[in-house]
Amino acid sequence: MNAVSLLRELVRIPSESGREESVAARVESALRELGLSPVKEGRNVHAFLGESGPLLLLNSHTDTVPVGEDWTKDPWAAEIVDGKIYGRGSNDAKGCLTAMILGAARAFARNPPQGRVCLAATCEEEINGKGLEELIKRLPRPDAAIVGEPTGLAPAVAQKGLLILEITAAGRSAHAAWGGGVNAIEAAARDIAALSALSFDKTHPALGRPTLAVTQISGGTRHNVIPDRCKLVVDIRTTPDYAPEEIVAQVKARARGEVSVRSQRLGSVATDVSHAVVQAALAANPGAKPYGSPTLSDWVFLKGIPTVKAGPGDSRRSHTPDEYVTIAELEAGVAFYERLIRNYFALAAAP
Ligand SMILES: [Zn+2]
Repeated sequence: MNAVSLLRELVRIPSESGREESVAARVESALRELGLSPVKEGRNVHAFLGESGPLLLLNSHTDTVPVGEDWTKDPWAAEIVDGKIYGRGSNDAKGCLTAMILGAARAFARNPPQGRVCLAATCEEEINGKGLEELIKRLPRPDAAIVGEPTGLAPAVAQKGLLILEITAAGRSAHAAWGGGVNAIEAAARDIAALSALSFDKTHPALGRPTLAVTQISGGTRHNVIPDRCKLVVDIRTTPDYAPEEIVAQVKARARGEVSVRSQRLGSVATDVSHAVVQAALAANPGAKPYGSPTLSDWVFLKGIPTVKAGPGDSRRSHTPDEYVTIAELEAGVAFYERLIRNYFALAAAP
């Protein structure tokens, strides 16, 4: 089985979030062709390699975002032009998944390392992460994990979290012509200005500071009624330096509207650079530097498990028209994961 043909097959099976059934079935059969005994539960597939020793989880996702507009290539044809494999999901993250499967298979095909790998292809990463969130509850607890996302094979050692708040400014409605009432939109505007002045002072070595943006606003019902309510949605990208409650308290101290938490399920995560899994990833790609990633991934569901996010491809090509991964990137990815697995078990076994 070669990486290019497997990836092209996976790209040709559409798998928008929630519709991963067919691609999961193909991953399952590919794992079986490699001599593994995959387990398919719903739209998640996993398989173990190795007999005993520390457990390293290799996870990536089978789902993709919708195709969207402006493609000049067929998003499902997996066409190859100038060494690039085009298609929705080629870069995010079927290239990573393919490279993980073949990298792990190679590592155990000859001279197998002293340890166990769990390969997990999970669903719904792009919408809610329910795939890995459910699977991880049923697996033995991994000693370390790799999340396959396109990072150019550089290990992300920290990842920002997401905290979503809602702020509701209250006013009192009145007929606009009479000039009375209390305008909730104006109150919300003052809250927006107050929040733009909010700054976080703790700087994380890999992630820097949290960021905050008001990303949605709704208020008013008619042109001639002073609005009595205006709702803001605030998107905050968090770091491990702040508990969500701390950030909520800072927002409450600035905003006069009523602050409520819509979501704090996706926390920030980080792994110490000295950990074996980070060192194994760096040794597998000696030119790379560890970095902090502002974007979410299924890593959020691996809290407490030393993890790096790394894989072939470029995250700037994710979710775009004419998404692609190059054959060279894909093949480097297979070799990278094989080396990473070998390095990790060598380091994990060291006294
Ligand atoms: Zn992804």
